[in-house]
Amino acid sequence: MDFAPDARTRELSEKARAFVDERVIPAEPVLEQQLAGAPGEWSLRPIVRELQQEARAQGLWNLFLPGEDGAGLTQLQYAPIAEITGWSPKLAPVAFNCNAPDTGNMEVLHDFGTPDQKREWLQPLLAGQIRSAFCMTEPDVASSDATNIGTRIKRDGDHYVITGRKWWSTGAMNPDAAIFIVMGKTDPDADRHRQQSMILVPRETPGVHVVRPLSVFGYDDRDHGGHAEVVFDGARVPASNILKGEGEGFAIAQARLGPGRIHHCMRALGMAERALALVRERAGSRVAFGRTLAEQGVVREWAAESRIQLEALRLLVLKTAWLMDTVGNRQAMTEIQAIKIAVPRAVQQILDRAIQLFGGAGVSGDTPLAALWAGVRTLRLADGPDEVHLNSLGRAELRR
Ligand SMILES: Cc1cc2nc3c(=O)[nH]c(=O)nc-3n(C[C@H](O)[C@H](O)[C@H](O)COP(=O)(O)OP(=O)(O)OC[C@H]3O[C@@H](n4cnc5c(N)ncnc54)[C@H](O)[C@@H]3O)c2cc1C
Repeated sequence: MDFAPDARTRELSEKARAFVDERVIPAEPVLEQQLAGAPGEWSLRPIVRELQQEARAQGLWNLFLPGEDGAGLTQLQYAPIAEITGWSPKLAPVAFNCNAPDTGNMEVLHDFGTPDQKREWLQPLLAGQIRSAFCMTEPDVASSDATNIGTRIKRDGDHYVITGRKWWSTGAMNPDAAIFIVMGKTDPDADRHRQQSMILVPRETPGVHVVRPLSVFGYDDRDHGGHAEVVFDGARVPASNILKGEGEGFAIAQARLGPGRIHHCMRALGMAERALALVRERAGSRVAFGRTLAEQGVVREWAAESRIQLEALRLLVLKTAWLMDTVGNRQAMTEIQAIKIAVPRAVQQILDRAIQLFGGAGVSGDTPLAALWAGVRTLRLADGPDEVHLNSLGRAELRR
């Protein structure tokens, strides 16, 4: 077993590290200023565009996508780079064109799109010219069970007509999110996992209404296009917009979520490393009751517990990435579920300890900790709640 990263991974990681340290983290206050100066604006702020240009020029672009359309990295090679982008989740992933949900949508188009669909939507997404949204979750049904999805995709001659209500469509508030991948039912009478299809719905289609933004613990997430409630009121699109074919929606959703989940976990490790770096800085300089915080036993324990969790989970993430590369996403399902449960949970704990160490400053907007905590907390719901993964993982374990 060789734990050392290969030469390409080392080279790209060093480049990404330097870019995030020297360009991205110093740009965080600039982003905040630009957001404050443009209330109600959901498109990417100028600083993001600037960083995208620089990152692209340095070859730090589309690294998430294996194969020749992307940078051709394996999951194992991408893992440390994605982790580095997690240090600044508002800016770095989007600067590298490696942010959810666009990455998952590009993967779907890459794996299942026709040549026309790729030309029209994948190419501009890969070039960072447009953004996208993934519309699966619905307010009216328990959407962690995707077979509940109620949106109808009804064939009408050479078209499909889409009717339904979605929410938590990340990125959809951004007017540049030109394409929505919508999951709905084409045949409610088919077999349980063959009722659903996915279809490409351009934002400008009559009948598409982006109704309102949703907030996360009060954060509007305007930096990456927010999260929207979207109504499809008889939206009519050409039949050729269907992805892969009728009845394939469930299978595409499963395929989409594998890489999406591990990428979330990789970035979450970076969020935790950032928190620990802040902890080291603070603990060494702040004095309470005659000793620095670093000299208090409980703080040392927190630091140790956090380091143990991080190192153990990084190994599990890397093993999962290696399995995805070598035996495929389906065969790696147990590990994907395990990290999807364990990483956000542990990172939330690590961030919570860091917040505690920072005292009042920890819950304020003066450090990145509160926003990082809010972000990682949502990962215990997004792409499947913990309990759904625990249930399925436990069932598989007991069947072995
Ligand atoms: C920040 C954020 C971004 C998101 N982005 C997107 C997006 O871009 N596109 C999109 O389509 N969706 C998105 N989602 C939605 C997310 O995927 C759903 O919220 C999630 O799948 C859960 O669905 P639900 O909210 O309907 O919860 P429900 O299905 O109502 O489940 C509620 C709770 O019930 C419990 N539960 C459910 N099933 C089981 C079970 N089998 N065993 C035990 N307990 C169970 C769990 O505790 C679960 O949290 C996002 C969510 C958030 C918070």
